[in-house]
Amino acid sequence: MKKLLLASTILLVACSQAKSPADAAEPQPQASETAEAPAKPNITSQDLGGGFYMLLGPGGNIGVSTGDDGVYMIDDKFARFGQEIIDVVATLSDKPITYVLNTHHHGDHSGANVEMKAVGATIIAHDNVRSRMGISYMNEAFGQKQEARAAGLWPTLTFSEDLTLWFNGDEVRAIHTPAGHTDGDSIVHFVGANIVHLGDNYFNGSLPFVDVDSGGTIQGMIGAQQTAYDLSNDATQIIPGHGALSNKAELGESIKRLQAIHDRVKARKDAGESLAAITAADPLADMTDLESFMKKSDVIKATWRSLGGSK
Ligand SMILES: [Zn+2]
Repeated sequence: MKKLLLASTILLVACSQAKSPADAAEPQPQASETAEAPAKPNITSQDLGGGFYMLLGPGGNIGVSTGDDGVYMIDDKFARFGQEIIDVVATLSDKPITYVLNTHHHGDHSGANVEMKAVGATIIAHDNVRSRMGISYMNEAFGQKQEARAAGLWPTLTFSEDLTLWFNGDEVRAIHTPAGHTDGDSIVHFVGANIVHLGDNYFNGSLPFVDVDSGGTIQGMIGAQQTAYDLSNDATQIIPGHGALSNKAELGESIKRLQAIHDRVKARKDAGESLAAITAADPLADMTDLESFMKKSDVIKATWRSLGGSK
């Protein structure tokens, strides 16, 4: 019973956080990364087999590879969960966290970089992740300025296209997917384990977030999902940036949905309708159930801007 209560509490925390742009996803004011840590536990692990785990809880989903070489972690949530992540990983492996790859620059996927560096990890990311961490920009989706991040957070091993790490007996490919969720996203393919981490190019069970102000486009996000789809088979375990563990069939449905969003907005834009008129027409009415911290109007606006429409 105690276990059941605990699980319910975690679920409530996760759901309530997932409704809030302040915590679930997306560019975070730095103040939130230094806030006092809430009562534990926040982070839970899901065993994917073969020494692989997915860490759930507030912020982006983490992928963990454990083995003889050490721990390779994909993303690291917020700074305030850094120690808890380290503690959870210590229950999965007695080896150090050797590498952390940031799928993109947002603070809910890279917030604990300082804490991971402090335990000896090297932070890997696409060149644009490091570049974006160093600049302030206005995020139109949330109507707030995102401040440049402290240099101590920046990745120190960056790549311009793709990168392969041979680790724990597996071939781990980081594949840059241009202009998707942002312009710096990687999807990570554990070839032998048959696991793909999509970062925020895939929100499982909710509307997508295209960060146009960070170089993202819905067309690129469709392309990124298609790349992952083509790498997958029916047994592939797919880790989304947010939401539950997924699979190829669900990813296929997501691609169709993104394409529908694109096509519906484009048809109206091409016919000369304004953004306000398209939003008022509610072309995503059948997707109301997928609204979370991203509303249909946000997605229509991001698609409009992806198609070259002005803010
Ligand atoms: Zn993101």
